[in-house]
Amino acid sequence: MTYLTREEILNWGVSTEYPSRHRYADRLISRLKEAGQWDVRQLAGHNWAMGCVALEVTQRCNLDCTLCYLSENSEAVLDLPLPEIFRRIENIRRHFGPGTSVQVTGGDPTLRKREELAAIVRRIRDLGMQATLFTNGIRATRSLLAELVDNGLDGVAFHVDITQRRKGYPNEAALNDLRKTYIDRARGLPLAVYFNTTVCAENFAQIPGIVRFFRAHSGSVSLASFQPQAETGRGVLRRRAPFISPESVAEQISRGAGRPINFDVARVGHESCNKYAVCLSVRGNLYNLFEDTAFMMDMFAKTRGCTFDRKRPWRLIAELFSVVLANPRCWANAGTYLGRKLWEMRWDLLWAGGRVGKLSFFIHNFMDASQLEEDRCRSCVFMAATAQGPISMCVHNAKRDEFLLKPFTVDTAPGWRWWHPLYGYAPGPADRGAHSFPLLQSVAVLPTEHRKGRGGSRRDMPHRSVETRPVERD
Ligand code: SF4
Repeated sequence: MTYLTREEILNWGVSTEYPSRHRYADRLISRLKEAGQWDVRQLAGHNWAMGCVALEVTQRCNLDCTLCYLSENSEAVLDLPLPEIFRRIENIRRHFGPGTSVQVTGGDPTLRKREELAAIVRRIRDLGMQATLFTNGIRATRSLLAELVDNGLDGVAFHVDITQRRKGYPNEAALNDLRKTYIDRARGLPLAVYFNTTVCAENFAQIPGIVRFFRAHSGSVSLASFQPQAETGRGVLRRRAPFISPESVAEQISRGAGRPINFDVARVGHESCNKYAVCLSVRGNLYNLFEDTAFMMDMFAKTRGCTFDRKRPWRLIAELFSVVLANPRCWANAGTYLGRKLWEMRWDLLWAGGRVGKLSFFIHNFMDASQLEEDRCRSCVFMAATAQGPISMCVHNAKRDEFLLKPFTVDTAPGWRWWHPLYGYAPGPADRGAHSFPLLQSVAVLPTEHRKGRGGSRRDMPHRSVETRPVERD
């Protein structure tokens, strides 16, 4: 396997064109074809031009994860001015079109002023895109979530796992109490609730227990996403243990699900990047929704170009139902599929009085910063929004400071002004340019308590080095 060289990474450009949504989807499709990743199961390029785009609204965070993807310089960086964030949101819309999923992320976005966060979510909603708040949950109170829902928030993704070293939570089983607290905060709000889990050697064996928790709360949690450890960013844990891979994580998920989960039916972008499965949940028991049947392939083909409402699963099912009704040629396949599913779930359906929920699983396999594969970066379905335009998140992570520490102009009410991530707005008019800033100050002068990750004071935090695959323990 050959990887991008440091020079190739530094020269890797952002997407500066503004093609129409369909032209961007065409480009993605042709890149997936070049990478040998194109077949009838591929969802990328059909239902959306881009899987999702991360909009980092702050670099500050109130935790210090052992696998943090942020730069060691992040804590010194000021929050982006709102006009610049609005410009990036419009840029996302121009590139990928309405319906695009935008991750409002950071750092932790809840550290921004409440009214600014609401304005960011509102702007995404007003441009016809879907906003999801990515947070560690500490400051994501019920009242904040309710206010953001009023401004158009579609989903909330809570990051909870032992890499965050939260006091009083020694393992994933203990963290289930916290997950439950966060679920309760979002309960009753029209929000899709997701959970993110970074997988490392410490918690690999605990994945089945985490999945059993999500099974028990599948009426409230709609997606559980797992990200195997990647050597990128400021985190103190570095190279992934050899037993951690998308395939071994999928096995662990299946163990927790109590049956094999079908991760190979649908494709989301490059198969080395993403694995995706959707299950029906009845009485906490999971049943694969995606099966390698003629009906499923029919459905993938027939729903191309549709955008579904993620917040309301029943509306999604009604939309799928109307697609089937409108296509008499798939009635026979649909009848066979439905009959088999109902038979498979019959006892649980009886006990549950016919109540069915949905729980999806996602495995996102980020690459190490020093091991970027070109075809995966070219066919990337997860972008970061930078001042210059969107770029593959893996490439972005490999050269964060190139984007993070560069001054740029901001269109403010009185006119253009230069803005520097370490100093803010430059004094004087825009034509004095970036030269009006003092020389770039080394962030190494920041007091230790303000630095995080490898640059911080806790570089010698204890962690196990596990080279052999541990057995499950809850
Ligand atoms: S961010 Fe990286 S792992 Fe994710 S889709 Fe893009 S290239 Fe693949």
